[in-house]
Amino acid sequence: MTAGRVDDGRGPLDPDPTSGSGAGAGAGAKEGDNTAGLGDRAGFRSGFVTVVGRPNVGKSTLVNRMLGSKVSITSASPNTTRTRVRGILEGDGYQGVIVDTPGIHRPRSALGERLNDTASAALDDVDVCILVVDATSTIGPGDRFVASRLPAGSIVVVNKLDRATRPQLLGQLARAAEQLGLERAEYFPVSARTGDGVAELVDHVVALLPPGPRYYPAGTVRDVPDAFHLGELVREQLLRVARDELPHSIACRVTEWDPPYVRCEILVERESQKAIVVGRKGAVLKAAGTAARRSLPEGTYLDLVVKVERDWQRRPDVIERMGY
Ligand code: GDP
Ligand code: MG
Repeated sequence: MTAGRVDDGRGPLDPDPTSGSGAGAGAGAKEGDNTAGLGDRAGFRSGFVTVVGRPNVGKSTLVNRMLGSKVSITSASPNTTRTRVRGILEGDGYQGVIVDTPGIHRPRSALGERLNDTASAALDDVDVCILVVDATSTIGPGDRFVASRLPAGSIVVVNKLDRATRPQLLGQLARAAEQLGLERAEYFPVSARTGDGVAELVDHVVALLPPGPRYYPAGTVRDVPDAFHLGELVREQLLRVARDELPHSIACRVTEWDPPYVRCEILVERESQKAIVVGRKGAVLKAAGTAARRSLPEGTYLDLVVKVERDWQRRPDVIERMGY
């Protein structure tokens, strides 16, 4: 098996949707291979496209925009993305597997280390690498560190074009070319938020896909189990009200998936955090449930349970259990 592509410890055929692991859409393997018969044909092109960068530069927003579908949750707080999230970019004669990753950063907890490992592993054996930098903040050692791990010919996306002035953008493009040390890189200014420049980026990515098989059945949108995705949607809603350290302390996991009944556990690290997540008379929890239910079949009963699990971010067993 090829490291990074296939086996990330979340086996592609994990039948348990509540385990927070495994491929939702069936296929997921590049080798060893259960994808035969999914429509391979001469001239088909496919490949893995990994999106990396520092936290908060807009990787997940960009991935969703490229796919035209919400596959990965986003928020204003860093380290929102905790797993490798795969979305499928599909068109006539091609299929690109877009891999969103946690931001690479200086870790302060076992969880942070785990996130860096996940992002680094996603860089092994990819066909196209996209490095995202923020047009509105300086290119720093963090960006250079990520860039140093990328192959020649990578794509540099300068994101948040909507917030940058023209001189700022031009300056950032020049600095990216000068300071990132990437050979034969291509540069794309985009706004993941408005979609500006994203079509050009997608065209370029598609043009870079090598000949290859169809990895997923036609029409597959994401390779994330439904239960895990739902936990993520709940977490995304909670992040909207979370401040300071709380975003890092929240974890969500679906523990029962028995439609119409679905039970999702929300972990926090302290009692005081529990109060914030529940909200006044349960208002925050209720709003999160309502928002998450929009992506569930009508009539789903979503049971949200908040639990305190002290310092779980430092505990590898809990990190593992949550599927990170
Ligand atoms: P990630 O950590 O790199 O995955 O970043 P996210 O996609 O979670 O985005 C981090 C923050 O940046 C969120 O508040 C996004 O709404 C915001 N953001 C992402 N892309 C853009 C963009 O193109 N323009 C602006 N103004 N904000 C953006
Ligand atoms: Mg992200």
